[in-house]
Amino acid sequence: MKYTIKPSADGFLTIDMEFMPNRIGTWEILLPTWRPGRYQSQHFAKNIPSLHAFSGARACAIQKIASSLWQLSVTDLAPVRISYRYWAQQADAGGSVVATDLLYINFINCLIFPKAWENKACTVHIDYPANWQTATSLSGKAGTYSVKKYRELVDSPFLAAPTVFSHAWKEGKTKFFLEGIGPATHFSKKLIQAYQQIAAYQVQWMGDFPVKYYHFLLWICPKPYYHGVEHTQSTMMVMGPPERDCYEDLIGLGSHELFHVWNVATIRPKALLPYVYTKEVYFDTAWVVEGITTYLGDWFLGASGVISWEEYVACLLGNLKLHFERDGQSEQSLLDSSVDIWLDGYGAALPGKRVSIYYKGALVALGIDLLLRQKFSHAKSMRDVMRLMQARYGYLKRGYTRADFYALVEEVYEDSLADFWQKWVESAQPLEDDITELLRCVGLHFYQDQEGQIHLDSLSGSEARQHAFLR
Ligand SMILES: [Zn+2]
Repeated sequence: MKYTIKPSADGFLTIDMEFMPNRIGTWEILLPTWRPGRYQSQHFAKNIPSLHAFSGARACAIQKIASSLWQLSVTDLAPVRISYRYWAQQADAGGSVVATDLLYINFINCLIFPKAWENKACTVHIDYPANWQTATSLSGKAGTYSVKKYRELVDSPFLAAPTVFSHAWKEGKTKFFLEGIGPATHFSKKLIQAYQQIAAYQVQWMGDFPVKYYHFLLWICPKPYYHGVEHTQSTMMVMGPPERDCYEDLIGLGSHELFHVWNVATIRPKALLPYVYTKEVYFDTAWVVEGITTYLGDWFLGASGVISWEEYVACLLGNLKLHFERDGQSEQSLLDSSVDIWLDGYGAALPGKRVSIYYKGALVALGIDLLLRQKFSHAKSMRDVMRLMQARYGYLKRGYTRADFYALVEEVYEDSLADFWQKWVESAQPLEDDITELLRCVGLHFYQDQEGQIHLDSLSGSEARQHAFLR
């Protein structure tokens, strides 16, 4: 497949897609309805007014038959070109934007493909002003990039602007980049140093890094914003407004998104391997994907020394508050809320209905980590779980189920955790007493005051246990 993309001054992208059909007859042409990282239908096809198809100079019949599906009639074994416009005005990390000083494209939003061609090679040519600079994990030059699969293209956002900040460094076998647009003050030495420290720590913690190149992409936007999307070879982070010091948000978000290179890009729930872009895919392990990543993303900040013990405890308290003070009484189990992310996982939900796969998921991850640390005096931790997940599922490109995850954690724990799963994951029972007990073993005092506010204090004389927790 060959795509040509031209931004227009009216806010649209003009797109041509060419492919060589290998049979005559009816073809189904599709557009993704959602994107990995946000498990919710977004129906990108609402941004396409119409498609026009041609075989040579002759028009081909193409008819829309569902919201993101067109039927194309192929009468010759000659290249087919499909031409359309895409309204690119979604200014977030997962959208696409055409502006006078910016071109940002998530190909998953806007590139149609023939049914079952997700694994075919693609070339994309993007027509941006010759004097602009770019940031992307795609390889190629002068706006032309080739990938082995459509899947890789739609996992690689593209950013172009008159000036793009760029800094690169090597960690182990991987070349890392911090690239992006916005005031130079946001691309500080302090931020670069923090990313270097976080990347070095995560790579040594997991043993190696799944990819050779990785790009932290950053867009400091005019509006108040906080959004990030994970990809296999990059993350896109959008923060604003420019007057705000985004450093703390950027280290937390960068650490979280980087760990997704393992936890979801490589180690993936079975239902998501491979991604089916055109329908909702339910999985009851969204809390493994987002909860462990949320918990570890912050833990890495403390463990790598980017933040102090006190700052880490404040971070941990922040996450615990987001569960206990907001969702502590919610009716759903983590399993139900995992399936329901497609329904109401991101915006508002009914009062008292859902728990967050991020924050209750992070609480479960903390619970697993502390159970292991307690039983094995810190000789085992979440690290053993994630390294084994990488060995059993990530490296082998095998998807895991909830039962697989349970069994693997129990293997590391060397005993059944049936009661733990039932209480923490499969029910909506209160967990205050359990977490109070577990946190004591790392020198932390967790308690709720009379107003229902929760607190987390470092116990004096427990410095050795606290130190052990961050290792
Ligand atoms: Zn995440």
